[in-house]
Amino acid sequence: MTNKDLIDLKIPYQNILNRLNKEGFDAYLVGGAIRDYLLGREIFDIDIATSARPSDIEKVFYDKKLISIGKKFGTIKVVDGQFIYEITTFRADGPYIDQRHPKEVHFSKSLREDLLRRDFTINAMALGKGGIIDPFSAGDDLKKKIIRAVGDPDIRIREDLLRSLRAVRFACQLDFAIEKNLKVAIKKHAKAINQISKERIRDEISKILLTKNPSRGLRLLEELGLLEEIFPEVSIMVGFDQKSSHHHLDLFDHSLEVLDKLPRDLALRLAGLFHDTGKPLTMVIDENGEGRFFGHQNLSADILEKRLRKLRFSNNLIKEAKTLVARHMDSANTYTKKSIRKLLRKLGEEGVLKLFDLQRADTRSSKTPDLSNMDLGLRILREIKEENIPIKTSNLPINGHDLKALGLKEGPLIGKVLDLIGELIVEGKIANDKKEILDFVTNKFGDH
Ligand code: ATP
Ligand code: MG
Repeated sequence: MTNKDLIDLKIPYQNILNRLNKEGFDAYLVGGAIRDYLLGREIFDIDIATSARPSDIEKVFYDKKLISIGKKFGTIKVVDGQFIYEITTFRADGPYIDQRHPKEVHFSKSLREDLLRRDFTINAMALGKGGIIDPFSAGDDLKKKIIRAVGDPDIRIREDLLRSLRAVRFACQLDFAIEKNLKVAIKKHAKAINQISKERIRDEISKILLTKNPSRGLRLLEELGLLEEIFPEVSIMVGFDQKSSHHHLDLFDHSLEVLDKLPRDLALRLAGLFHDTGKPLTMVIDENGEGRFFGHQNLSADILEKRLRKLRFSNNLIKEAKTLVARHMDSANTYTKKSIRKLLRKLGEEGVLKLFDLQRADTRSSKTPDLSNMDLGLRILREIKEENIPIKTSNLPINGHDLKALGLKEGPLIGKVLDLIGELIVEGKIANDKKEILDFVTNKFGDH
């Protein structure tokens, strides 16, 4: 690393450091920005550590837009043009409560102390006027591609269990290995992982699922004893033999193969991971000795919903992932115009395309990949788009006002009738024509 490298960093952080220096404070760029810069990765947040106290930081940057919500923990955000700098007073954390938040924040005079509280060597470098400060030889770990704890791994994991998931997440994002003793520590404390907040587990798991090679993350979680705690229903698929002539892999390996074949979309990846979780509970062996799993898609969908609710995923995401799982077996029947129109009404175009993605990945991960039905579905989808068929209720040639004018009572009935009309048109039972629709409504609902 030379000073030239540092100048190449396109973020004008030097201005921020200079201003703090001029007022007599130490200041350094720290954390993920240096790591990602040295790895040639895109930089997301810019963290600066300084000897200045929050109130001093506010004074130094009196002329900038400041965000002070983190002031109690020592952080002031300074907005400068397109960049936001998170400036934090050097800290030396006290003992931890609730596995995550230090009981009290101790400000420290020294950068070294501040770097010592950071989780992994590659996250504990600083960059100041004199160049890079690397007290834990992170440079070597970056070269060897290793995630190593700062200090004693057992102590560091015990004081904040989130670090276990962060280790797996960084290993996946950066394609690094987790150092041996850190692995031992993570395993030792895996049973306690659910003591940390559900939201934090959710966020780390989401990041792991969205990496290029999510199966590696899932295998690491399994190896370290974390999968059993976080996703027990996924962990029971490990080694599960489907006794099926269509499948050459156990259920876990199959699900991971599906996962890796899916685009980077959280609902799809969660659906891929959970799509067969209902299989172990629905399995029956038929007269030919073949495993059968009637209705497993609906059970898998319920299992996914329960788990994602516990982890506080958003309602929209849960709904989307659940529908994908519940419908992943739809491709067992040859697609027709009618079935695709119905799917479109339920899922919308984006949803149908995602469903095809899941079905393709699932089929490609079986012994006899036959994609012809999904190809047919796509062709039909394109045809339907060229037709004048109102797929969404809002595209019908009539609306609620028309129904009221016919004498229908205001309230939920109007929505139900509109839905019914949409379905009948999609099924070809009435024409997409205003007059015909109104006649139909008058005949059928005239008395309401
Ligand atoms: P990314 O932004 O990609 O998640 P990052 O390294 O910036 O990566 P942040 O969570 O933003 O990660 O944290 C910033 C820095 O704070 C880290 O680089 C690390 O030095 C420190 N840090 C974050 N979380 C912890 C933790 N749980 N224990 C110790 N240090 C931590
Ligand atoms: Mg960050």
